[in-house]
Amino acid sequence: MRWWGWGDAAHRLALPAHALRFLSETVGLADPPRPPVALAAVRVGPSALGEQTLAALRAIVGDEGVRDDHAERVIHAAGKGYPDLVRLRAGEPEGAPDVVVYPGDHAQVRAVLSLCGRDSLAVVPFGGGTSVVGGVAPMRGEHAGLLTLDMRRMGEVRELDRESWTVTVQAGMRAPALERYLTTRGLTLGHFPQSFEYVSLGGCAATRSAGQASGGYGRIERMILGLRFAAPLGDLNLPAVPASAAGPGLRELLVGSEGTLGVISELALRVRTAPLERSYQGVFFEDFAAGVEALRALAQQQAAPDVARLSDEHETRMSLALAGPGGVKGSLGRAYLGLRGYRGDGCLAILGFEGSPDQVARRRKRALALIRQGGGLAVGSTPGQAWLKTRFSAPYLRDELLTHGVMVETLETATQWSNLRSLHGRAGRAINDALNVCGTPGLVMCHVSHLYETGASLYFTFLAAQRVEDEIGQWRAVKEAASRAISEGGGTITHHHAVGRDHASWMEHEVGATGLSALRALKSELDPAGIMNPGKLMAPVNRD
Ligand SMILES: Cc1cc2nc3c(=O)[nH]c(=O)nc-3n(C[C@H](O)[C@H](O)[C@H](O)COP(=O)(O)OP(=O)(O)OC[C@H]3O[C@@H](n4cnc5c(N)ncnc54)[C@H](O)[C@@H]3O)c2cc1C
Repeated sequence: MRWWGWGDAAHRLALPAHALRFLSETVGLADPPRPPVALAAVRVGPSALGEQTLAALRAIVGDEGVRDDHAERVIHAAGKGYPDLVRLRAGEPEGAPDVVVYPGDHAQVRAVLSLCGRDSLAVVPFGGGTSVVGGVAPMRGEHAGLLTLDMRRMGEVRELDRESWTVTVQAGMRAPALERYLTTRGLTLGHFPQSFEYVSLGGCAATRSAGQASGGYGRIERMILGLRFAAPLGDLNLPAVPASAAGPGLRELLVGSEGTLGVISELALRVRTAPLERSYQGVFFEDFAAGVEALRALAQQQAAPDVARLSDEHETRMSLALAGPGGVKGSLGRAYLGLRGYRGDGCLAILGFEGSPDQVARRRKRALALIRQGGGLAVGSTPGQAWLKTRFSAPYLRDELLTHGVMVETLETATQWSNLRSLHGRAGRAINDALNVCGTPGLVMCHVSHLYETGASLYFTFLAAQRVEDEIGQWRAVKEAASRAISEGGGTITHHHAVGRDHASWMEHEVGATGLSALRALKSELDPAGIMNPGKLMAPVNRD
């Protein structure tokens, strides 16, 4: 993975000329472009750890498992959020771990945690490092040093129980590696976040991640049957069971704990039969309200597809503009123009169905009938297939946009159906207004995804010219305005990106003072020295 962005160095996704023209006319592009500095120019300061500590770590994980060279410290200095990338590209990360340690098994994790407790070293568990909320930021709090625990070496399948549709993996296993293992056996986990190419399963569990096909396969927490956990206090072993009434859900307390309570070392996950067919369809609605109503009908009549994404008017316009004359735009525009006199309004939805050919045909027929009843127009599989093909591409484009001086950021929430359109308007206006106050009017767009019977998620993307020399101040102003609008507008502060550092100050609003106290009490029990991922999730944070 590029230390300053996404993907491996060989894979570059350039913005086509028509997209650059569109962006130049709408938000403006930097001239000259703003490439990242060279790796050697990134400033990280000296490591605070002495030879004695490093030798003790080597004795636990072996020489090859302890790295404190400049490149390793830079790679682990941040996640993949907008402020992370801005700082890294400028060669000025907020900090860096003193050392990066690669444990090989649960016993080594336990031994490292004991050493860190004894020597007052903060521990940041690190899976794929794809957090977009500052989850892996090297914040040491009051501690003498900071160790990033990279789980990459713990990447094996432990057991496949085919009869029970259950696979047990080490938590550092990457999602693509598990999918490859399962596919050859006719199975799938079905967890495909947009960051799929790099995420670890432990990281997904620690953040309560939601894959793009959550409508069919469920969010990650619906897949977690059991786990093995190393907290500074001791181990927790929760074996795989289909369901349990043994007290409050301890699994649920550990899932989503974002490395603040301890380290997930193993996971037992539910798998499913791999789909034989994937059918992705495009549907057009006259406006956002009609689209929302149709998706609600699908969800409440048990006809929801595995993937559902309804773009609002702004996102639809932007997608069609970026697709260009030879892309999806042509066929979509023609289909819609022919039937309704498309004038550039309307909202595009992508509906994806997976399963056996019979199941897919039956579910698609029923869903499209409901869509038609709701005023939607099926426009064939071209937009759906185009989305499927490029669904992991956006992060590469983000790097290109940053090089052209364009701020591009995403944020998400979820709310009840009765509040969805109101929150969509409120949060969108807050982002727009904040960009205007910054003097950088931009493009703000949104889509609805992850349908539930009671509500859905709203996912905002915004683009604007970067305020040079104050990119972080600009980002902070917009993020604060959006978070306030979401929190006060009845949405959750995060539907799937997690809390990390960036949302920590909203947790009290989210769960209440007593709820936060309960979480902190659990932390002081499991992690009495407070070494686990300081500054994240339940940390007192001053938003100013
Ligand atoms: C371009 C892009 C697209 C994204 N799309 C999605 C999406 O569609 N859906 C979604 O849910 N998220 C998405 N994300 C966010 C991110 O990918 C998820 O939060 C993901 O689950 C993080 O997994 P990771 O392995 O990279 O974890 P990391 O980023 O390494 O860590 C995330 C948090 O979990 C903790 N952690 C990691 N491993 C462990 C462990 N073994 N034990 C305890 N704590 C641990 C870390 O300390 C940190 O707090 C996206 C991110 C990017 C950059």
